[in-house]
Amino acid sequence: MTETMGRIGVVAATASGRTAAETLRAAWPDEVRVLTADKAGDALREAWRTCDAIVSFLAVGATVRVLAPLLGHKTTDPAVVCVDESMAFAVAVLGGHHGGNLLAHRLTGVLGCTPVVTTASDRSNVTPLDSYGADLGFTVHDPTVLAHVGAAVLSGEPVRIEGADDWPLPPLPPNVTSGAEDAAHHILVTDHAAMDCMCHDGWFGGALVYRPKSLVVGVGSARGVSAEEVGTLVDQALAAAALDPASVRCLATVDLKADEEGILQAAAARGWEVVTYPAEALAAVAVPNPSEVVRAEVGTPSVAEAAALHGARTHGRDAELVVEKRKSANATAAVARLAPRGRLAIVGLGPGARDLLTPRAIAALQRASVVVGLEQYLDQVRDLIRPGTRVIASGLGQEEERARTAVAEASAGRAVALVGSGDAGVYAMASPALEFADADIDVDGVPGITAAVAASNLLGAPLGHDHAYISLSDLHTPWEVIERRVTAAAEGDFTVCFYNPRSRARDWQLPKALAILAAHRPPETPVGYVRNATRPDQTVTLTTLAELDPARIDMFTVVVVGSSRSRAVAGRFVTPRGYRWA
Ligand code: SAH
Repeated sequence: MTETMGRIGVVAATASGRTAAETLRAAWPDEVRVLTADKAGDALREAWRTCDAIVSFLAVGATVRVLAPLLGHKTTDPAVVCVDESMAFAVAVLGGHHGGNLLAHRLTGVLGCTPVVTTASDRSNVTPLDSYGADLGFTVHDPTVLAHVGAAVLSGEPVRIEGADDWPLPPLPPNVTSGAEDAAHHILVTDHAAMDCMCHDGWFGGALVYRPKSLVVGVGSARGVSAEEVGTLVDQALAAAALDPASVRCLATVDLKADEEGILQAAAARGWEVVTYPAEALAAVAVPNPSEVVRAEVGTPSVAEAAALHGARTHGRDAELVVEKRKSANATAAVARLAPRGRLAIVGLGPGARDLLTPRAIAALQRASVVVGLEQYLDQVRDLIRPGTRVIASGLGQEEERARTAVAEASAGRAVALVGSGDAGVYAMASPALEFADADIDVDGVPGITAAVAASNLLGAPLGHDHAYISLSDLHTPWEVIERRVTAAAEGDFTVCFYNPRSRARDWQLPKALAILAAHRPPETPVGYVRNATRPDQTVTLTTLAELDPARIDMFTVVVVGSSRSRAVAGRFVTPRGYRWA
């Protein structure tokens, strides 16, 4: 690290500052020089002249007063970090992008203080590297480089990343790219164990290496095989192809071997799960080295190769045999690599208010490297979207294209969030997307508060008993179908929530629907309508079936018509729960 930081001058004026300075010197003996002078100001000025960076255990104000007259240019001045008396904060004061932010982060590791970085406000929203890919099973090869590379990512320095495109990972900020050829910091996602071979061009040293769970080891054996024999064979199979055991997802074999002690023990010793498949499933897998002898015994011409490939396919989109069958006296092993499945999160953003957006929806938004949605909804959450996220915004009426884009991105292996207002499954994007989606992606629906629920809470308790949602949009549904449903709801005495109730082009449907309901319930039946529920210009109106003026309703409104039992109580819309209370 000496080459990146150079010499760090440390200045202290109090007893606790001097103790902390000594702690730093002990931690980074090659870098730290503790400057002492009768006056702290003199020590600070000397550090400015002779060091590449300064840690000042003086107040920010005191430090700035001393250094202000000496300020030159940020690229040539030393970086300055001030640490407060209680070691709570390391404030990057000067030269943040030139080592200051990095130093503030490094101090955390030694002094336990929290880095305070003010150079780019969006940086706090950056995907943390220590949990990068953790939900996919990634492990960090050498965690000691995390702080160093993490600081570079946060500081906006160029960081080169390789191997991440294959995985549905969260975004990293734009300074992290595969094209950053001359970057001093590197992130690598690989199951390859032979790092030496990547060192020849000089960029591997100090890289942050993640081990993805990309490998499935297939194993077959004779009855009574020893754990040592299986373990040795498997270790050799991995080593032969320079594959890292930390990237093994599971050990796969045929159902018949589910109780084979040697296999179970060899897997347990390496921390791997064992999965088994029926012989018929394995028989259907095309393999390079089938055996008729094995078929006669087990019912499949291949166990090791077929189980590896089948397991990799089960956990991924596709599979490639990276180590063909190897044999010992009583066992066989093969290794397959999987192409990871993409992810589609379908995320409801709620009716509008930020505090009705669920923490899970926020997490799903920030987990995605591609976010797809209608422009106006994306605007609602733009500040939450992490730097480096690809945002695909589209206009009204492009639902099908939006759904197809989201699914295509997920099918290509990415982590995608398709967002919609309210709940994304209610008159929204979830169904068109899932109509296009194959089984080769993982889908995660994140519920949101739908307009009817937001509105009903503003109105009182109109949904206390059975109710129906009906969309009055006849753009994609014939009016006859809608009318039949309104009639059924009227006859069934449901409370009815109308979505898409009325637009300039569709102005007769709402009066028609209300007339159908009015034939089955009294004129004083409560009707509530809420425009822009939980948004800044929200309006809430409670009226009756007889009094409602449809002209006041538009597409930003949801309309709730009570059942024959609903009534207004103290100005609130109530549909009785219907129990007979004792
Ligand atoms: N997925 C959305 C519904 C989309 S359909 C949801 O779950 O809420 C669009 C219709 O929803 C609008 O025409 C309107 O009737 C209703 N709507 C959506 N958000 C609303 C809000 N904040 N206030 C009132 N009505 C709303």
